[in-house]
Amino acid sequence: MSELQELYQGLILDHNRSPRNFGPLEGADRHAEGYNPLCGDQVKVEVKLEGDRVADIKFSGNGCAISKASASLMTAAVKGKSVAEAQALFEGFHSLVTGHGDQVDQKALGKLAIFAGVAEFPVRVKCATLAWHTLRDALK
Ligand code: ZN
Repeated sequence: MSELQELYQGLILDHNRSPRNFGPLEGADRHAEGYNPLCGDQVKVEVKLEGDRVADIKFSGNGCAISKASASLMTAAVKGKSVAEAQALFEGFHSLVTGHGDQVDQKALGKLAIFAGVAEFPVRVKCATLAWHTLRDALK
């Protein structure tokens, strides 16, 4: 239990309690929905694109602390970024949570780096990446 508590600490708890960019996005021109059957996490990601830039992004849905905190931090990380930059962040984040953090520029990931601990809990990887996969679907 102590390991799990460690995983749920700090920023993750904060973003779970007070998720950023949570709720429907008015005027969204892209959206996708994702589901993680292993845990029951559901997320909807809505995006407003301006040219090649993520002008605005919000998420809604229900899920565990990890999935919600990850979605919250994901929206904060990609807002204002280009689609290519968002994709690069996703690739870095995915490497991090699947245990390849040594191959990643963790500085570039900023706050997303707090999810490095997820790599020790393979069943949680899908929780942490759900919002990102859903974002990628929305941008397709
Ligand atoms: Zn979950």
